[in-house]
Amino acid sequence: MYDAVIIGGGPAGMGAAASAYQNGIESVLILERADSLGGILQQCIHSGFGLHKFSEELTGPEYSLQYEQIIHDLGIEYLLNTMVLKISPQRVVTAMNESDGIFEIKAKAVILATGCRERPRGALAISGSRPAGIYTAGTAQKLVNINGYMPGKDIVVLGSGDIGLIMARRLTLEGAQVKAVCEVLPYPGGLARNVQQCLNDFDIPLKLSCTVTQIHGSKRIEGVTISKVDSDKKPVLGTKQFIPCDTLLLSVGLIPENELAKDAGIKIDDSTGGAAVNRDYQTSISGIFACGNALHVHDLVDHVSDEAELTGKAAADLVKRGLGNG
Ligand SMILES: Cc1cc2nc3c(=O)[nH]c(=O)nc-3n(C[C@H](O)[C@H](O)[C@H](O)COP(=O)(O)OP(=O)(O)OC[C@H]3O[C@@H](n4cnc5c(N)ncnc54)[C@H](O)[C@@H]3O)c2cc1C
Repeated sequence: MYDAVIIGGGPAGMGAAASAYQNGIESVLILERADSLGGILQQCIHSGFGLHKFSEELTGPEYSLQYEQIIHDLGIEYLLNTMVLKISPQRVVTAMNESDGIFEIKAKAVILATGCRERPRGALAISGSRPAGIYTAGTAQKLVNINGYMPGKDIVVLGSGDIGLIMARRLTLEGAQVKAVCEVLPYPGGLARNVQQCLNDFDIPLKLSCTVTQIHGSKRIEGVTISKVDSDKKPVLGTKQFIPCDTLLLSVGLIPENELAKDAGIKIDDSTGGAAVNRDYQTSISGIFACGNALHVHDLVDHVSDEAELTGKAAADLVKRGLGNG
């Protein structure tokens, strides 16, 4: 039996684990399905992380390293390449990896720090066929920054959230031509600094109140039709414009990764899509906590770390009061 098992080894998981340990419980285990700690930060090689937390501008991997060092210094256990399949309301965690097969771990407290996932094309009602060349922005980021592949040369980005803006700049720096970033709202979705540094500085057009209404191409995407939208986000007749492209990137929202929570019967908050929690970040099931993007989508990782530290402390307090023994 562990005092605390943390699911996910991103900044939320690492911050919560370190804080639980520093607040008086020593048997802490992180379970991470990827082959390294760090979560999404490992593919975010741009700078802009850590301004609040460390008062310096770090890249994602540099920010992650600060917490990985703390985990190593405290001697906190972690298992990589380990996928958590299920948690029970009694805090039994079922996981699997190549060396141990399927196994169960009982914990006095469980912290969900599983991050979020991207909204895919299926969540949008765009007409047209299903050609290759359509990626979520985060997938394209992983292809370019981790795997070393370019997704295409002539790009249209749908959605002006931070990931879309950052990828518009990244692909431009790698030699692609980003023809437009289309945003259905009348204002950009990402941070003002990203609009300036990722689009304006590279003369990439931002088309507001605009969306992709048709995808063209059979084997590979050959272009998109974009249209202006009205205040109800409905396409306005007579405003169609065809843009030839070989790649469409979707940056149309993130959803908390909450399948484990739902399966366990944890109450979900309709407004965030993550678990509903009390002021101690405890879910509707006693002894199960949630933090980071699994709880609600955060713009800044610094806020994720702050929240994770509070969650780790709350979990440690519960264990020290003997409430997780059942
Ligand atoms: C493209 C992009 C750009 C960003 N740019 C900035 C920026 O410039 N500045 C800034 O401050 N913030 C930025 N952010 C935000 C910040 O990186 C995130 O808010 C933060 O990383 C979220 O941390 P997390 O630990 O909650 O989630 P994640 O980092 O996603 O970590 C979750 C971890 O849980 C693991 N996991 C999930 N399910 C399971 C399971 N069942 N079993 C085992 N492990 C599991 C995943 O593998 C992952 O490692 C950016 C985010 C993205 C996506």
